Amino acid sequence: MRALVKSAPGPGLDLLEVPLPAIGPTDVLIRVRMAGICGTDGHIWEWDRWSQSRIHPPLIVGHEFVGTVAAVGDAVHRVNLGDRVAAESHISCQNCLLCRTGQEYICERVQILGVDRDGAFADYVAVPEHNVWQLDPAVPDAWAAVFDPLGNAVHTVMAAGVSAKSVVITGVGSIGLMAIPVARAAGAARVIAIDVNPKKLEIAQSLGADAAFDATTPDLRQRVLDLTGGHGTDVLLEMSGSGAAINLGLSLVRNGGRAALLGLPADNVSLNLAENIIFKGLTVLGINGRSMFATWYQMQTLVTARRIDLDPIITHILPLARYRDAFTLLNGGSAVKIVLDLTAAD
Ligand SMILES: [Zn+2]
Ligand SMILES: [Zn+2]
Repeated sequence: MRALVKSAPGPGLDLLEVPLPAIGPTDVLIRVRMAGICGTDGHIWEWDRWSQSRIHPPLIVGHEFVGTVAAVGDAVHRVNLGDRVAAESHISCQNCLLCRTGQEYICERVQILGVDRDGAFADYVAVPEHNVWQLDPAVPDAWAAVFDPLGNAVHTVMAAGVSAKSVVITGVGSIGLMAIPVARAAGAARVIAIDVNPKKLEIAQSLGADAAFDATTPDLRQRVLDLTGGHGTDVLLEMSGSGAAINLGLSLVRNGGRAALLGLPADNVSLNLAENIIFKGLTVLGINGRSMFATWYQMQTLVTARRIDLDPIITHILPLARYRDAFTLLNGGSAVKIVLDLTAAD
């Protein structure tokens, strides 16, 4: 089969012919139809500091995908041949304290698809049955291919709690953009988007943000205060991982508000803890992955009830052979979510 492989330490990925993945008794073999490219994949492509410490080549990359079940192990009962499926990319041990107490998504021994074990930028991927999500027929393939990051957005919004609240989102890349319709559907009263990319701010408004600001707007804090009765927002959803944006976002939340942090900083971040968290009495939440599998039920319901539209966020669908173009686009400012189509002719 074809696979995008990090074959040796260093930048880039190679499109290679490799053997089909083997499956154990509790595994499912999935013929991949489409796969989303994530910021994580961009880091692995570039071979940054994080990748150098975490990735052990050779590795097939990719963790967001949709496909069809091609084979099942002897002990598989819930999933059937031919099912159209996506999968939770965090493979939990199901034996640690967290797994045994309902918090599998922060499993102490988690293995991530396409990071710690072979992933989905390939014609076939093997996944434990436990992680396989059977799709409602109403979910389009391209949307199902990005259920993993949509789940990050849903998990962040639900953890923060946004009903009848004002919400500021710092960083409207694909997950920040997804959080806008999700927050709307969850009953947010007002959504304010902040980014440095004008195209993403435009999409944010088309998705239902009430206001979209460039992060360098000189009177930004005052503008946000004006929109929130002079108090600041009830909630911050931090999706950028930029130290400057985290500090900006925390400064925009009102006293007693909640901040949910999903964006991953590349380095330690310095915060004004006294002014922006302690004196304000903020509740700060670290968000990782998706609640398994509550988030998956929530996002499938949001899609089938037509409460969210992902089409404006999926800006490019490219055949696998054009993966170099895809990764070039990922680093440019014009693409948001890029999906590889493994069924397309080159
Ligand atoms: Zn991802
Ligand atoms: Zn565990």
